Amino acid sequence: MRLEGKVAIITGGASGIGRATVHKFVREGARVLVADINLEQAEKVVAEVTAAGFEGAAAAAQVDVSSFAEVEATVARAVEVFGGLDVIFNNAGIAGGKPLLEHDPETDYAPMIRIDQDGVYHGILAAGRQFRDQGRGGVIINTSSIYGEQAAELAFSYSAAKAAVISFTRSAAYELAEFGVRAVAITPGRVGTPIINQFTDELKQTFASEQLRGVLTEPDEIANVVAFLASDESNVINGTVVHVDDGYSSFKKRLDLPTF
Ligand code: NAD
Repeated sequence: MRLEGKVAIITGGASGIGRATVHKFVREGARVLVADINLEQAEKVVAEVTAAGFEGAAAAAQVDVSSFAEVEATVARAVEVFGGLDVIFNNAGIAGGKPLLEHDPETDYAPMIRIDQDGVYHGILAAGRQFRDQGRGGVIINTSSIYGEQAAELAFSYSAAKAAVISFTRSAAYELAEFGVRAVAITPGRVGTPIINQFTDELKQTFASEQLRGVLTEPDEIANVVAFLASDESNVINGTVVHVDDGYSSFKKRLDLPTF
């Protein structure tokens, strides 16, 4: 029960990594606002939590993280329903992309920046103000990506947004330390969620082979790390990136060289 008594907002909580984290947080004693643009799916996750025996530990809220007003309202809702806020997991995101020279800036750049980049900024700002006013500290966890630290095909806009998330994390940790607030970014590698599951089995196998264990990461495995980062056990992890990528960023694929 490492999150006993804590209140958390999890954006993108209706699916994938966010959904797994809702379940993990609740099992660790937290109460969670499942905040997602897809309200119906968020309500299903709340129903799953209830069915698992944790009635009242989760509530759903509709939010489009690209709107600061909506994110502010989400923070206010968490305070109204659960009496405060201790953790925000800024995790909502979209993926996808085209080769740069085929971009239409309106459809291939702007939405990614508004959701994956601005959405995290909005969460940091709204939760940061709440943490300051409450005076009992807080934890901000932001979902970046392996692509936030490297270029990749079809990822021009996504990489830009995810790199900004890492920068936001450092600056937020620096600026909010005086209020007892920590900020940490995570960089998932290849996780078995709808973002990856839309691809063919062959491509999924290629993605899996880019990680040291040779399998896609389970959303639950990311959620376990996020719960640790949200807890007081990780108090010295601050303003930095935690690579949850099964080695992806630490090695280059084997070339099967002959012995020499
Ligand atoms: P997912 O599609 O299962 O979940 C994303 C959730 O975000 C969905 O529930 C969706 O409705 C919600 N969402 C989308 N736009 C939103 C908006 N404007 N406002 C509020 N909610 C919105 O995908 P996932 O893999 O669980 O992704 C979670 C995060 O992890 C994303 O930020 C993604 O970029 C990141 N990530 C995923 C992988 C991976 O391999 N799956 C790798 C690296 C990073």
